[in-house]
Amino acid sequence: MKSLGQFIDGAYEEAGTSRFNVVDPVTGEVAYTTYEAGRDQVDRAVAAARAALSGPWARLSAAERGALLRKLANRIAERSEEFLRAEVLDTGKPADLASHLDIPRGAANFSFFADTAPMAMGEAFPAPTPDGAGALNYTLRTPRGVIAVVCPWNLPLLLMTWKVAPALACGNTVVVKPSEETPATATLLGEVMNEVGIPKGVFNVVNGFGAGSTGEFLTSHPDIDGITFTGETVTGTAIMKAAAEGIRPVSFELGGKNAAVVFADCDLDRAIAGTMRSAFLNCGQVCLGTERIYVERPLFDTFVEKLAAQVKTLKPGDPWDKASNFGPLISEVHRQKVLSYYAKAKAEGATVVTGGGIPDMPGKLAGGSWIEPTIWTGLPESSAVIQEEIFGPCCHIAPFDSEDEAVALANAGPYGLAASLWTRDLSRAHRLAARIEVGTLWINSWFLRDLRAAFGGSKKSGIGREGGLHGLDFYTEQRNVCIHL
Ligand code: NAD
Repeated sequence: MKSLGQFIDGAYEEAGTSRFNVVDPVTGEVAYTTYEAGRDQVDRAVAAARAALSGPWARLSAAERGALLRKLANRIAERSEEFLRAEVLDTGKPADLASHLDIPRGAANFSFFADTAPMAMGEAFPAPTPDGAGALNYTLRTPRGVIAVVCPWNLPLLLMTWKVAPALACGNTVVVKPSEETPATATLLGEVMNEVGIPKGVFNVVNGFGAGSTGEFLTSHPDIDGITFTGETVTGTAIMKAAAEGIRPVSFELGGKNAAVVFADCDLDRAIAGTMRSAFLNCGQVCLGTERIYVERPLFDTFVEKLAAQVKTLKPGDPWDKASNFGPLISEVHRQKVLSYYAKAKAEGATVVTGGGIPDMPGKLAGGSWIEPTIWTGLPESSAVIQEEIFGPCCHIAPFDSEDEAVALANAGPYGLAASLWTRDLSRAHRLAARIEVGTLWINSWFLRDLRAAFGGSKKSGIGREGGLHGLDFYTEQRNVCIHL
């Protein structure tokens, strides 16, 4: 793959303050090199986005913008093979997964928000006035302006377009900072923007690192009007400090330590299949993934045994090999982090039900950041393994005895992103849905997404909600117009 560098004002710049390697996590070999954008490039990207706000883009109606975004979705679909290759090279995830999830959802985000943005609601309040003429208050929505979009590496195209699509549909312009681990699809998207005729400067990409680098230059830039960020909670704290300067609004989708609560009356096959996906999909690198499983005591042993049996069917291997269904972690650095939790679990006396180490991989794959999917039992709730987000293919399973205990366990800890509940008792499901403190609660399912629904985290898992009409409050400014008739 060729290095594309930055995409600023409709043109690629193969330049930056330094070159950096993007590593293929499947082999550990350098996949390609790209460039770290310096302050001057970030300045130019923001200036291009600012200028585009008063160019041809500003003169388009919402319907015209929507038509362009639908063309964009179609063009991504037409070039899906290229996006798929770029995504698999960056992440190492199975091509089958990316071809069913990341790439089609990346395209669908644009058509979805093309349809949704025009439905942004306003209010109208007729009111009496002392002179008898009356007054009317009504809402006008305008684009917020230049939006900084800072993205993680786990679902690079899907999560980036989840923010870029509503931003553009509402008439904003964007400067995107993809993860330094996975810059390919965001950068490739620039080509498609040009192909379908999105005016130059509307979509810009600057590549580089976070603190002390491109990410910080962008989020602390005085001419940014809002920051939408998906990533770790600790990074969110740094970005929020940067946003405080200049009072810029933020929309944050942050970390999680999601629980699954499994009752003895559940449909066991569904619960096993669901928790299997929620703990191990994308090598456990899904923000909504489950790392804590609580099982009602009578079912505990059976559940552990059945989940462990399923885990043994996971086949790590070349992402293009249809027989493999389990990819590597994103990087060696991340593998070291996850392995440190594997070591902590052992040191704290966990029973390692399955996994716990590094698999033997053949040939070139031996250099990749592969890791074994792992299940533990027997740790106290105070364990770091149960308290902290690991973001790997691992989970701890513990028994519980009552509904109240299950709720307390699920709600423990600083995060509140998502949870799943497995039971056939729908009264209980609704009762618990009202008590579990998360942004998304799934009942007898996981990752069943409806793009119209509010998406985000409570507690330290985020600020604000995106999705459907909800994110439009972030991507537009509401102006109340009051007219004395
Ligand atoms: P990260 O926070 O390390 O990095 C995310 C992005 O922020 C990268 O582009 C990075 O370069 C940039 N960044 C880092 N420090 C910065 C700084 N000081 N200023 C500006 N930018 C900075 O996250 P990650 O490791 O890429 O992704 C994994 C994390 O993302 C996990 O915590 C996961 O839970 C979270 N996540 C959350 C959601 C959600 O919807 N809530 C979705 C996916 C991932």
